[in-house]
Amino acid sequence: NLEVGIVGLPNVGKSTLFNAITKAGAEAANYPFCTIEPNVGVVEVPDVRLQVLHEMYNSKKTTPASIRFVDIAGLVKGAAQGEGLGNKFLSHIRQVDAVAHVVRCFDDGNITHVEGSIDPIRDIVIINTELCLADMETVEKRLDKVSRAAKSGAKEAKAEEIMLKKVYEVLSEGQAARRVEITDEERIMLDELTLLTMKPTLFIANVAEDEAATADKDNPFVQKVKEYAAKENAEVVVISARVESEIAELDNEEAVEFLKEMGLDESGLAKLIKAAFKLLGLLTFLTAGSDECRAWTITEGTKAPQAAGKIHTDIERGFIRAEIVTYDDLVAAGSTNAAKEKGQVRLEGKEYVMKDGDVTYFRFNV
Ligand code: GDP
Repeated sequence: NLEVGIVGLPNVGKSTLFNAITKAGAEAANYPFCTIEPNVGVVEVPDVRLQVLHEMYNSKKTTPASIRFVDIAGLVKGAAQGEGLGNKFLSHIRQVDAVAHVVRCFDDGNITHVEGSIDPIRDIVIINTELCLADMETVEKRLDKVSRAAKSGAKEAKAEEIMLKKVYEVLSEGQAARRVEITDEERIMLDELTLLTMKPTLFIANVAEDEAATADKDNPFVQKVKEYAAKENAEVVVISARVESEIAELDNEEAVEFLKEMGLDESGLAKLIKAAFKLLGLLTFLTAGSDECRAWTITEGTKAPQAAGKIHTDIERGFIRAEIVTYDDLVAAGSTNAAKEKGQVRLEGKEYVMKDGDVTYFRFNV
């Protein structure tokens, strides 16, 4: 299951956003295989295609893909030195697939800012510095070991030492490790260290409720975050955490109405989910039948057998072929049989690279 960690300085709106996520979230009961902890919220990935398939197949149920959001509270200045909740924080963040960094772009005299004024770039730098410091420590420890091995002539150790020194230099300049230029082989070695600043990151600009629709263009703080993010090749999602928590209280129809009144075409949460998919290069394939229509999340480039493995390891092991029809073709044809008659249901083999919207039936040996 895809997991996104929410970080940010105190008082920027993390809890407000996280509460909205939990309220909007899926019933924990629907996800028997994941224990829901107080700092975890699971949300369903909105996908209209599921509803269409559900009607076409008259299926008993639909199961959307889901994302877990983990509220990683307690990152403050000095976290890497073990102040506050620092260390626990660091171990949480190591596990996530991506990091969503909330920065405060709303000005509200009633709410104090831990650093005294609104300045999202300074806030980003504070958090990045902590993450870089923690990573430097990880790299130092590894370097110690590797350098000893390198001295006694181990060739691989020598190569790793060279890579680690490059990474260390980038980190000590306060830059994220993901910005280091290394070869694919070096990258494999580096991935072993699960550095915090290697995690794909996006920024959430939290804006005042009356700016939810306009801040994307008009809010000067948001513009600064965008400029910063552009240099890092990172995405920015503009959200008003307060608005999100109001939306979370509404049922679907009310929410649509409310968004329209606010001048928004979709909720901030939906935007966030899309941005996370883009950031991680994810796509969705679908399975459809009378029992269940379901969306599955895979990374770009996943081949058919590995996609089958998402459903069950047995299907991957016994993979024969995948029967695939593109969602749009299926809908245009009206039914699987009609699509078959038109020759639109393809038989794909082991090397087939899955595409977004592939409606798939796997044939396998038990
Ligand atoms: P955290 O410390 O990052 O978890 O921040 P909180 O979610 O507790 O928010 C800190 C304060 O900012 C709370 O009083 C929130 O109600 C307020 N806040 C959060 N988002 C917004 C917003 O969009 N607009 C305004 N005006 N206040 C907000």
